[in-house]
Amino acid sequence: MIEIKDLHKSYKMGSNSLHVLKGINFTAEAGELVAIMGSSGSGKSTLLNILGMLDEADSGDYTLDGVPIKNLNETKAAKYRNKFLGFIFQSFNLINYKSAMENVALPLYYQKIPRKERQERAMKYLEQVGLKEWAHHLPSELSGGQKQRVAIARAMAAEPKVLLADEPTGALDSTTSYEVMDLIQKINDQGNTILVVTHEDDIAHMCKRIIHLKDGVIEKDEKVTQVRASQYV
Ligand code: ADP
Ligand code: MG
Repeated sequence: MIEIKDLHKSYKMGSNSLHVLKGINFTAEAGELVAIMGSSGSGKSTLLNILGMLDEADSGDYTLDGVPIKNLNETKAAKYRNKFLGFIFQSFNLINYKSAMENVALPLYYQKIPRKERQERAMKYLEQVGLKEWAHHLPSELSGGQKQRVAIARAMAAEPKVLLADEPTGALDSTTSYEVMDLIQKINDQGNTILVVTHEDDIAHMCKRIIHLKDGVIEKDEKVTQVRASQYV
């Protein structure tokens, strides 16, 4: 599903340059649940943003579901991003003046899906994350965990090939974090490919594989026995 080879990325700051990714290589098969771990500043978000086509590497190859991601114009990049990728962020990134359902339905609008189907799909995914009753509420009326579940429903509604989550539990207390991880595990159980960036060891062990980033390279890439989050919720 994902194949990256010798990926490099630097940030230019005045006359200085910060070399963040120094040759990253890995592949992820369809259906994997992978944690990308590393200390703050180790380049996790940089890597995830490149995988999410929100940013471009300086060099290296990236193939997503057989499609080489390189030198795409913005129209094509946006098309692939919508078709292949779903995003979940630490800060939820919901639109405050739109209801939970409208938030979930919005990406479908950009995919030119008709209104009725948008609403049906939004309700289907809100139900899947356990928030059917909250469909017509604003984000401000929801708890942090509920907001993140809306964001997960929104990412799922577009039926992407890969879900990319950047510190999805970073703004949540531990019980709520485990609820969110329980949901992520259940979505993965259905066969979805998911990458979770985290700096928390317990969250990483709820995945099936942990990639450790350090000093710009993969220090360790290990399969782990998945800890089920459901036992903590
Ligand atoms: P992580 O997500 O692991 O905390 P990041 O990928 O956000 O790490 O950042 C890696 C390094 O790159 C950090 O030192 C950060 O300050 C720097 N960095 C990130 N984004 C930018 C940017 N847009 N411009 C300059 N430096 C950046
Ligand atoms: Mg980060």
